[in-house]
Amino acid sequence: MITFSNLEAMGSMRLFIATLSTETNTFCSLPTAMSGFEEFYLRHGNATQDVPNLMTEALHLWRSRAEALGWEVIESLSAIAEPAGPTVRSCYEALSGEILADLEAAGGADIILLQLHGAMVAEHLEDCEGDLLERIRARCPEATLGALLDLHCHLTDKMLTASDLLVCFKEYPHDDATARADEVFDLAVRTRAENIRPRMAMFDCRMINLYLTKSGAMKDFVARLSAAEKLDGVLSVSLSHAFPWGDVSDVGARTLVVTDRDEALARSMAEQLGREFYDLREQVTIPYLSMAEAIERTETTASQLTVLADMGDNTGGGSPGDTTALLQALLEGGIRNFACGIIWDPGAVRICCDAGVGSRLKLRIGGKASSVSGFPIDIEARIMNIQSDLGQHIGPSLEPLGTLVWLRLDDDVDILINNLRTQVYHPEAFEQIGVRLADKKAVALKSMFHFYSAFSEVSDHILQVATPGGTSPDFEKIALTKIKTPFWPQVPSPFGPHRDA
Ligand SMILES: [Zn+2]
Repeated sequence: MITFSNLEAMGSMRLFIATLSTETNTFCSLPTAMSGFEEFYLRHGNATQDVPNLMTEALHLWRSRAEALGWEVIESLSAIAEPAGPTVRSCYEALSGEILADLEAAGGADIILLQLHGAMVAEHLEDCEGDLLERIRARCPEATLGALLDLHCHLTDKMLTASDLLVCFKEYPHDDATARADEVFDLAVRTRAENIRPRMAMFDCRMINLYLTKSGAMKDFVARLSAAEKLDGVLSVSLSHAFPWGDVSDVGARTLVVTDRDEALARSMAEQLGREFYDLREQVTIPYLSMAEAIERTETTASQLTVLADMGDNTGGGSPGDTTALLQALLEGGIRNFACGIIWDPGAVRICCDAGVGSRLKLRIGGKASSVSGFPIDIEARIMNIQSDLGQHIGPSLEPLGTLVWLRLDDDVDILINNLRTQVYHPEAFEQIGVRLADKKAVALKSMFHFYSAFSEVSDHILQVATPGGTSPDFEKIALTKIKTPFWPQVPSPFGPHRDA
């Protein structure tokens, strides 16, 4: 625990807290509107009365630490939407405007701490977080302003200039939000007490990819970042992985270093760590299978359940959740006795609800919501079950599944469709409605990585499949038109061939 030499002299402080979070996939044509926040999570000053979720954990921690010091806490908006396409202008203006209005109504604050995503794009604005931080700074030039960011963020000069402190999650899957929130609080208090004067710098690693931090070279690199924080004068070290499907000028991995008073040290350390990360590029990325390779592996696997992650259509990354490419490939590949889901198709769910459980009907499912949805698939299926009150766990939090319909075709293929865009986190998404995964040869999931720990309990044969869709992990071909620097793997040596020689 850090001690604060001037803490008593500070007296009672006023802390302002808020959350604004969505991850914008600019390749997805589904707009993010207020309905997306209302459906997912929207609270006006009372999120800390609920069970915490990933993006409100920080608010709970900040409130409890401030109250333990006898400070006044002003809690503003908590707004979180399932990722989709750019946020509608009026929606962004309303949400950011509410935070600014609350701040104004409170007469400002001594410390302002925000949980932001960092990859929110509005239809008129590609750096929502930079915009929000800048507008807060303009109203409260004397406040200590800090933000905690998801590591899938786009770090921008505007964000660094407007704020005193930025810290990213270090872990993917993100299980360190509370630890990082603690760090932000410590640094904000020390800044306010004038024990430290933070200086921030970042370095563009010229890489676009996905990196899991729980094993191998990536785990070691996270340990390297934590070790660097113990060096003299260094306060905090982050690596923003970037969100690859955001076509904005600041997309790309960056190292971010916060030092005490020493801008040159921040710059040199950010560059040193960024180049170390670049040198690890082949080791820190994850291999993916093509659909053909995945189907071949599924065929040749003996008795146990094969889990296929439909990476290209992860709603958690802003994909629509209604592509049918992997389902089609499994059917055409002759795979029998498999399950597949959850395909988002509110229209088909409505038709099934009208037909009722036990009916057999012709249905056209998927392939229609977005420009990256691909083609629908025509099936003749029996409606096995319909449930509207189920949820699935990710860690301690229970996420809703909407109205969920279990369809069966060809006697042994089970397909789930629903009317609420969500990725699959847990086998219970299938099991509760009646699909017994233990009896299946394979299950194809609309998810990228967050399913991993729960599904590894039921299978040790998990395949990451590079399917088409809004989150296809084809980073050599990804059409980023605004990026300022060349990047690996689209360019073999983005720093120039001399650098990699
Ligand atoms: Zn993330």
